Amino acid sequence: MHDQTAISPLIHRGSCLCGAVRFAYHGEIDTVIACHCLECRKAQGTPFVTNTPLETARMEWLSGRDHLKSYESSPGKQRWFCQNCGSPMYSQKAELPEILRLRVGTLETPLSCDGVSAHIFVADKASWWTIQDDAPQWPQWPPAT
Ligand SMILES: [Zn+2]
Ligand SMILES: [Zn+2]
Repeated sequence: MHDQTAISPLIHRGSCLCGAVRFAYHGEIDTVIACHCLECRKAQGTPFVTNTPLETARMEWLSGRDHLKSYESSPGKQRWFCQNCGSPMYSQKAELPEILRLRVGTLETPLSCDGVSAHIFVADKASWWTIQDDAPQWPQWPPAT
């Protein structure tokens, strides 16, 4: 049994832990970036964050947008979370409003990519975490393409 729509949906759905904030993303999600910087580790409480850069225009907030609160973790960079349950949802830079970086763990739909696409800020990686996949690793940002 192969249900193609379940493998690579064109509409992705997700929500925060309490379910107040729900969204649909109208497009493909095929990139998962693992960031190991200390800020991301603290923001998630985990050894790294997994995020994916998405087009803001394709994101539809279905409910709970008034539950979203943001914290400016560095000048011009807001990290948005559900103020009811604390789920980190996305980050966004003031100079790049057309892109948001969704926290991949909030998604309920499967992705078309197989595993992590790249590890960034590996120079700041937690000493107690070992990267066990073959994805490219960059000390900080990946080189510009
Ligand atoms: Zn919530
Ligand atoms: Zn980071």
